[in-house]
Amino acid sequence: MCQERCPSTDVSMPDGIFIPYLYPMQKVEHIGIAVRSLEASIPVYEKLLDSPCYKRERVEGERVDTAFFRQGETKIELLEGLDPDGVIASFIEKRGEGMHHIAFDTSDIRAEMRRLREAGFRLLSEEPRPGADGKWVCFLHPKDTAGVLVELCQDRNGQDISDLT
Ligand code: ZN
Repeated sequence: MCQERCPSTDVSMPDGIFIPYLYPMQKVEHIGIAVRSLEASIPVYEKLLDSPCYKRERVEGERVDTAFFRQGETKIELLEGLDPDGVIASFIEKRGEGMHHIAFDTSDIRAEMRRLREAGFRLLSEEPRPGADGKWVCFLHPKDTAGVLVELCQDRNGQDISDLT
């Protein structure tokens, strides 16, 4: 049964012992919210959550400035685009400020990317990329997920891309 579900990621051991796939998408790690201005939105979210912004970080590769809040196990990531014609700016132009993506934690992002690719989802990058807050990330095409941009993430723990399985 499980072998049918995820043949490439299940592990068959010698002696016929079968270990089911171990790395499904886990909890919601964070929710990304597109904003016009971090300066304007950080105090609003600090007031809303009654919790300080614990990190601001520029992610050059994604051309965004980010700000993070921790709420229990889940984080909120505010995103401001660095370019007037970048992905965040064009998202806000089309849909206004608001929920931009939902990110799921995984302990093996490559295995999840394989599983999802085989299940017919399109990935927006072939390889995991360095994201904010010490993560490897990969996004799924929102047309395959009812219009919601889904992000997979995995703690980098100082690992290089070649260290990922
Ligand atoms: Zn994110």
